[in-house]
Amino acid sequence: MRRKLAAGNWKMNGLRAALSELQALARAHPDPSVDILVCPPATLIVQAAALVADSPIQIGGQDCHPQDFGAHTGDISAPMIQDSGATSVILGHSERRENHNESSALIREKARTAHATGLISVICLGESLAQREAANTLDIIAGQLSTSVPDTATGLNTVVAYEPIWAIGTGLTPSTDQIGEVHDFIRTRLEKRFGSGVGLSIRLLYGGSVKPDNAADIFAVSNVDGALVGGASLKESDFSPIIKALE
Ligand code: PEP
Repeated sequence: MRRKLAAGNWKMNGLRAALSELQALARAHPDPSVDILVCPPATLIVQAAALVADSPIQIGGQDCHPQDFGAHTGDISAPMIQDSGATSVILGHSERRENHNESSALIREKARTAHATGLISVICLGESLAQREAANTLDIIAGQLSTSVPDTATGLNTVVAYEPIWAIGTGLTPSTDQIGEVHDFIRTRLEKRFGSGVGLSIRLLYGGSVKPDNAADIFAVSNVDGALVGGASLKESDFSPIIKALE
């Protein structure tokens, strides 16, 4: 019932030449049985969207401001991201929570604006290593989930990504039992808050060092509806096998 989603986050990587990887990805997946989303840096959204206009691949932003327009030098708004050709936006990535002091309350405001604009928000949650070692993972996830996800969330406009901070870019991954515990917990909380219609329709992605060689095991975990992939989404030769493992 939930369509699987393979989402790539290029982060602050990619000059125009990198669009050849996106072109190769579109060629490799002309008719995928899963959704594919690529989130390049904002500078490439217009060209990326034009490149995949005839392909099922969707383009997303990596952040947006909570307001539509105004005096916010250097920021990009949800309407701007949509106007550039994107359909989605990543919000609350741990690198933004950490490097830009983003709170869950701010992320909720951004998600509200994204929803009002018609963008799908991919809202990221995740615990630090210290929080996991202190057995606080589920408390942290519960807090981030309830505050970051706005009341406007539906299965059509919201995706939740569980990304343990200690697994991002490190080559470390939680065990499949640990991933399943958190995903089942998120699902239960969403059903409790939104009812089973919406709660069961919001897709849950796992993110953190997903690679071609561990993707199939991760995708077999209950309530894992796909992945948010960083490093391995930069090259078609790495991202394609992950997409294939999800199909
Ligand atoms: C990410 O940036 O969201 C991510 C999961 O990165 P990586 O796949 O490189 O760990």
